[in-house]
Amino acid sequence: MNFPFKQAACILDQLISHGFEAYVVGGAVRDYLLDRPIHDIDVATSAHPADVVSLFKRTIPVGVQHGTVAVLFGGKPFEVTTFRSETGYDDFRHPNKVDFVLTLDQDLMRRDFTINALAMDRTGKIIDLFEGRADIAHRQIRTVGRAEERISEDPLRIMRGIRFTSELCFTLGNQERAAFLEKSALLKNISVERVNQEMVRLLAGRGVQEAIGILFETKCIHALPLLENAELHSGLSGVRFSILQSVEERWAAFLIGLGIKNTHEFAKAWKWSRETERKVTRLIELQNVRRLADWTPESVYFAGEDDAKAADRLLAASGVVNEAYLSLLEQQVIELWRSCPIHSRSELAATGNHFLHWSGLKPGPWLAKVISQLEKDIVNGNVENDLEVIESWFKRWQITQKKQS
Ligand code: ATP
Ligand code: MG
Repeated sequence: MNFPFKQAACILDQLISHGFEAYVVGGAVRDYLLDRPIHDIDVATSAHPADVVSLFKRTIPVGVQHGTVAVLFGGKPFEVTTFRSETGYDDFRHPNKVDFVLTLDQDLMRRDFTINALAMDRTGKIIDLFEGRADIAHRQIRTVGRAEERISEDPLRIMRGIRFTSELCFTLGNQERAAFLEKSALLKNISVERVNQEMVRLLAGRGVQEAIGILFETKCIHALPLLENAELHSGLSGVRFSILQSVEERWAAFLIGLGIKNTHEFAKAWKWSRETERKVTRLIELQNVRRLADWTPESVYFAGEDDAKAADRLLAASGVVNEAYLSLLEQQVIELWRSCPIHSRSELAATGNHFLHWSGLKPGPWLAKVISQLEKDIVNGNVENDLEVIESWFKRWQITQKKQS
């Protein structure tokens, strides 16, 4: 077999020519065998970090205490990690002791799943000590060694395991399933950031439906933030995630399916970025509005074309509308959007300054109110987007405001 990781060949060659062993390991080998796109190529070597630093021109010490140096090559970073073993995980986060070891075999033993414990040497030969290739063929997630032990060492492996079932559409081994159930409470010790990271990938995977089923079946779901009482009632179990495109849409469907109303509290507990919270909140709101009424030029304008389409996908995913109508609904949104005379506030012929000038007033909340009313009137075809027309519209608006107050 030829060595398929051409970009990493020079790194291996450099290490080998200086008397060290070097292999491509982990996810890259797994994804190569699965014919999946390869994201990053990790290298395991007998060279110590100081040797790695001295052998390459450009390196970054990303985790020297764990034996990892990033080597920049051809504009890309490659993580080069010294063969190591790990013992003890007192804080469930970092192994409290990392020992450099002499052989690849020892290094492969510390890895989480058999499919991730594969290595490839420079000739393209695969080193497979734990039947990882057979598990790839059977599409199975199995731990290296006894599942309970490996989970107790590092409970994040539960989330990783379930995430891989989703991403790869693999099944979880029976012993792993039993161990996840037995050890599910240990997940509470894992930092929210890492759990969230895995959950995002789990939700984004093609096998998300089954993966969520595993989260419930193993009771792991109840160890996750704010999901102590989550139930897989028909809401969530019926959601057709495959219809949904972005991870925010999938989060929205997840929360809707679970009947979780307080998105802000959830976002805080899961330490979402502001942007994620904003987007998920908006999608949930839009699909709520959409449940009650069809799109109009005004509602599509304020939703934006993409979010309006996403809200329709959410309705289809939860079975409120039939999936067969989705492309029709999308076409409707596209047409309404196209029919809008403007597509954002910045396209208004008048700016805030015009209103200040025409009114002689100081800026205040009235300005936002007037601009938003103008957007509505223009989008609904009541006013032309023309400066002079807007000026007389504004005068009329001032009069009605005075009358009202
Ligand atoms: P992907 O990059 O698609 O997430 P990956 O398998 O490359 O998949 P990484 O997180 O990049 O995952 O880790 C690289 C390798 O390090 C894994 O393939 C696995 O061998 C090992 N590994 C990662 N996390 C753990 C862990 N928590 N316990 C044991 N081994 C791990
Ligand atoms: Mg990786």
